[in-house]
Amino acid sequence: LTFTNPPLDPHLLTNIELARYNVPTPVQKYSIPIVIGGRDLMACAQTGSGKTGGFLFPILSQAFTHGPAPQPTQTGYGRQRKAYPTSLILAPTRELVSQIHDEARKFAYRSWVRPCVVYGGADIGSQLRQIERGCDLLVATPGRLVDLIERGRISLSCIQYLVLDEADRMLDMGFEPQIRRIVEGEDMPGVQNRQTLMFSATFPRDIQELAHDFLKDYIFLSV
Ligand code: AMP
Repeated sequence: LTFTNPPLDPHLLTNIELARYNVPTPVQKYSIPIVIGGRDLMACAQTGSGKTGGFLFPILSQAFTHGPAPQPTQTGYGRQRKAYPTSLILAPTRELVSQIHDEARKFAYRSWVRPCVVYGGADIGSQLRQIERGCDLLVATPGRLVDLIERGRISLSCIQYLVLDEADRMLDMGFEPQIRRIVEGEDMPGVQNRQTLMFSATFPRDIQELAHDFLKDYIFLSV
């Protein structure tokens, strides 16, 4: 199984094989080489197109190949209180972040990458305990993430990959202020120091503006 050219990390290919994905969907076929090549991406793709694999596969592949980045030293005693994820995926609803998290767990199986999920409207205590156990790839709804950043429990200073999934739906739901606080916040590495991927079913004016503000020299993909 090679799946794509350039090929993905062998451990990821094993997990893809376990999931019985034999051929990449079109969005995966095109997005994987773009992301592995280090480029920012604006992809117009519908739900059901396999777009989750389109961003998870290249991110996990690079993570497996390069291994964990050194974590900032934490001061104080006891267990780590603050999480420093290296990948962040923002999506509009609890249902969607849960689905992405399930996929991330499936494909991060037996690797160093620890996926986490946080969303609003649910008990924050159990989400905090989950984060404390380790969080490398965070899947979040925007409002709950702002809350956790303000509580000092998550830092975005180590983010290498930022994904905005279903960006048009996030704007329709009124999340633009929270998204801007996260992406344009002091803690988030600047556009030159992270790789940013945006997925949206449509490409209206407000999404074009977000793409202009959040992406650098990006490739536009429509499938
Ligand atoms: P998505 O658009 O990412 O929500 O994916 C839609 C559905 O297609 C999900 O149930 C995935 O598990 C499945 N899927 C994604 N990529 C593949 C693939 N390459 N081969 C088979 N099934 C896939």
